[in-house]
Amino acid sequence: MRAQFWGTRGSIAKPGPSTARYGGNTSCVEVRSAGGTLLVLDCGTGGHALGQALMAARAGSRGHLLISHTHWDHIQGIPFFAPLFVPGSEWDIYGPKGLGQSLRDTLAGQMQYTYFPITLEQFGAKIRFHELLEGSFDIDDVKVSTQYLNHPALTLGYRLEADGVVVAYCSDHEGHSRMLATGQGEITGQDLRHAEFVHGADLLIHDAQYTADEYPSKVGWGHSSMEYVARIGAHAAVKRVALTHHDPLRDDDALDRIMASLQARLPNDGSSPDVFAAAEGQVVDLAPSVAAGAQRSARKFHAEMPVEPALAESSVLLGVADTKTAAALSEAIRDEGIRADFFLDLDEARRLAAKSRPSLVILEHDPPRIDGMAACRSIGAQANGGDHQTPVVMVAAREDPALGTGGGVTEWLIKPFTMAYARARIRAWVLRTACRWVRAAIPEDEERRLASLHAVQLLDTQPEERFDRITRLASALFNAPTALVSLVDENRQWFKSCYGLDMKETPRDSAFCSHVVYDREPIVIPDTFLDARFAENPLVTTEPRIRFYAGCPLILDDGACIGTLCVFDTRPRTLNGPDLARLRDLADLVVQEIRAPRPDKPVPA
Ligand SMILES: [Zn+2]
Ligand SMILES: [Zn+2]
Repeated sequence: MRAQFWGTRGSIAKPGPSTARYGGNTSCVEVRSAGGTLLVLDCGTGGHALGQALMAARAGSRGHLLISHTHWDHIQGIPFFAPLFVPGSEWDIYGPKGLGQSLRDTLAGQMQYTYFPITLEQFGAKIRFHELLEGSFDIDDVKVSTQYLNHPALTLGYRLEADGVVVAYCSDHEGHSRMLATGQGEITGQDLRHAEFVHGADLLIHDAQYTADEYPSKVGWGHSSMEYVARIGAHAAVKRVALTHHDPLRDDDALDRIMASLQARLPNDGSSPDVFAAAEGQVVDLAPSVAAGAQRSARKFHAEMPVEPALAESSVLLGVADTKTAAALSEAIRDEGIRADFFLDLDEARRLAAKSRPSLVILEHDPPRIDGMAACRSIGAQANGGDHQTPVVMVAAREDPALGTGGGVTEWLIKPFTMAYARARIRAWVLRTACRWVRAAIPEDEERRLASLHAVQLLDTQPEERFDRITRLASALFNAPTALVSLVDENRQWFKSCYGLDMKETPRDSAFCSHVVYDREPIVIPDTFLDARFAENPLVTTEPRIRFYAGCPLILDDGACIGTLCVFDTRPRTLNGPDLARLRDLADLVVQEIRAPRPDKPVPA
């Protein structure tokens, strides 16, 4: 195989004299097998020059474009990729199966008339779109394996095997362990899985936007440190590591200095791969070495899991007796485009688990009526055959962590839940990604707490000036468009006072205030997009689009925490210490009003 870099810059194209040597174009790598199969890894702005070169060589009539993810720096070259405009040409475009719209629609989005004069429909070439999950498939003489990377967008890494050599492409990816990102610690868990995916590669092309020193201020941005990549490469017995996705703030001289420092720190006892910074235009020829080839085939490659063909649909095995819950879950599963298989007894469940290798098993535990733990033990052995770990989710009225850990339960889904919450969780379980929407746990004193809440008789009452003036003040004081007095009921949060928002209540699943009620402490979230508990919460992703939140608990004299006084904003921001003290003062005023006799009711004698 032969690889050529056409774009090595991350985030945004950065052409100019200071980036001339390593290149200013965004991600694009051309890979060709000895048999002539043409693969293009990502099509950032570097794709323009590649397209021109293919046209000049009359070599672009058949090709395959593998997209890691649809961030702009990986797709912006597509509307400028000349071979796609040639009638009679044939191209296959592959990318991760998205969460909402199709790959085709996502790519068409950047070619709407608002942004670009030509639409996707006007490409002359015959184009086929393929949406990928994790797995393996063949493109002519090249075996392609995919595995999810750790990035804010749904992103796939690619492993290409042909001609006795391996090229792995991982951009964009952030190490799972913070320790590893700073060049320390052991390679375990998801990082180990990542290393196994690239194991034995002759060339690993890897996102390395930052240095270990820069990383602490870039946590969660979805990119690796060079030190992390060098560690992974050494652990995975990779021969050559090409660092790419160079930071747009980094000029050629800075990159030279950083590479010299990195190379000086790598052990020179033969345990380290050859690590270099990829440069635009650079060609890497990969010839199989007999010894290495033999080693590779002798070693079991754990991360390669052709559990389901990469292009096939996933399935969920559903064993829930409660008809209302079963109907809600199967609708949520169907809405995600996933197949649901039902079973009536354990024999059928075992048969289905062995046959269809589900991506997820959902069971119900409601003793003494339904023993979900027994079902879990019996199905788990089938579903988890080999290296394939199928998550098992237990639907129940309450969590039993002790029972769950021993019995093979991956996670609990506590009733009741909204359809939106079930969908978000199912999507995350099937795709093995983190669900960035976590609902609050139920407080230990929940029964007593609800009794106190109902005793103050405020739920579903008319707005009252004595509360509204406090939310008005809070909004003005913190310059926040919205302020609420929120009462957290059994399955909802209900707003006794609501300034700047046209809503009376939301489900408890999505209630920020529910977290404050559980913690019994104020919570300040400067930017929900960066918070793993809230980034995919529907109050963030749709109206009212909360970006900043600060809430103080309302704790009654009997100790019950019944709700919050909170403010939120559609911009990310924060509160300083004195601000937080003022929010507490206002929350105390709310509690005082709750304690006071209601003005519209006769005071009991
Ligand atoms: Zn990128
Ligand atoms: Zn990205």
